[in-house]
Amino acid sequence: MSATIIRNGRIIDPANKRDETADVYIADGKIIDAESEIPHSKSEIEEIDAKGLIVAPGLIDMHVHLREPGFSHKETIESGARAAAAGGFTTVVCMPNTSPVPDNPSTIAWIKNRASAIACVNVLPTGAISKNLAGEELAPIGSLAQAGVVAITDDGHCVQNHEVMRRAVEYARMVGVPLLDHCQDYDLVGNGVVHEGYWSTLLGLPGWPAAGEEVIVMRNILLAELCDHHIHCQHLSTAGSVRLIREARARGVKISGEVCPHHIALTDDAVQNFDTNYKVNPPLRSEKDIDALLEGITDGTLSILCSDHAPHANFEKEVEFDVAPFGIIGLETELGLFINLLVHKYRKIDIARLIAMYTVEPARLLRIDAGTLSVGARAHVTLIDPKLEWTVKVNQFHSASRNSPFDGWELKGRAVRTIVWGKTVWKL
Ligand SMILES: [Zn+2]
Repeated sequence: MSATIIRNGRIIDPANKRDETADVYIADGKIIDAESEIPHSKSEIEEIDAKGLIVAPGLIDMHVHLREPGFSHKETIESGARAAAAGGFTTVVCMPNTSPVPDNPSTIAWIKNRASAIACVNVLPTGAISKNLAGEELAPIGSLAQAGVVAITDDGHCVQNHEVMRRAVEYARMVGVPLLDHCQDYDLVGNGVVHEGYWSTLLGLPGWPAAGEEVIVMRNILLAELCDHHIHCQHLSTAGSVRLIREARARGVKISGEVCPHHIALTDDAVQNFDTNYKVNPPLRSEKDIDALLEGITDGTLSILCSDHAPHANFEKEVEFDVAPFGIIGLETELGLFINLLVHKYRKIDIARLIAMYTVEPARLLRIDAGTLSVGARAHVTLIDPKLEWTVKVNQFHSASRNSPFDGWELKGRAVRTIVWGKTVWKL
């Protein structure tokens, strides 16, 4: 293995409250203290000039769909990992709505083996909460934890039976894995496809009311309190969810929430052209909801940023709005969108907090060894140019799918190099 020196970058390592211009030294895939500690056996030392760039711990996206096993026409672990690297991500956490569902240790082993053989970034699997994501019978949560899942979730689905969910939280606590939840009340949401409001009424599309999310967020707050275990609410989209989480966290409840870029970049008026690249779950919401999400990000109520990268093939998305699958790809646009919106446009947080929400925050929640540039840490590093202006070109994406509503958008800020175990896996 070689050694690497990243010179003169602005190091932002929120886990160590570090923000200064300095060099970063890497040998044998780990961060080391000083140039003098590079072993003499290293004949080749790669030097990277990071002047004008931010040197951040490798970013973590804790919510992606890599579609394997089962749906490799949408994405594979290999193509999804390349998309992650091109977005600046060194670690991704993949969701369990695959076929077969990882509700058993052997599917987890398959994903881990496949990832270590073929993925250029770290791929960490989640296990299902319930067998076949059906919400009825618990998956073997202890065996899944032993098999190496970083969390359990039924993402894409939501356990409706509160007693089943309570037992899941208790088991998760017992075996020490966090629980993530896609918050959707099936009765309230019904066949809703867009935010219930002006546009759903005008267009005659079935509405997905904000309360359909909030009622499950409330349920999760109560269960986190009852079972004294952390529950993390995925892709939050409504003002009411932010208010509930804020109040619960102030009381010390172990609850948290994440935000996806599309929920702050777009409102539900985008669906008026019936373009299915605006069909996401939960749906695009109102201006008022966006304001609340931004407020939640600013005051720390919402602590994690992620993409909910959800690839679908063109033939699947090119159908009537009602029947198209939910979801858009996001790995290659999320960092640019968030820097552009949160740091430059709305000035809600600074770049250091944005990096924290992509590194130390998810690492802490998932209890994984990542998200810092501490001496001895794994050398996963992302180089970011926060001022670089670029245009989104979907046809150049590394993802195997093209379902993005952001094609042609002008953004400011992006990753320019991604380093995994000390090795550059992607650069601009
Ligand atoms: Zn989901």
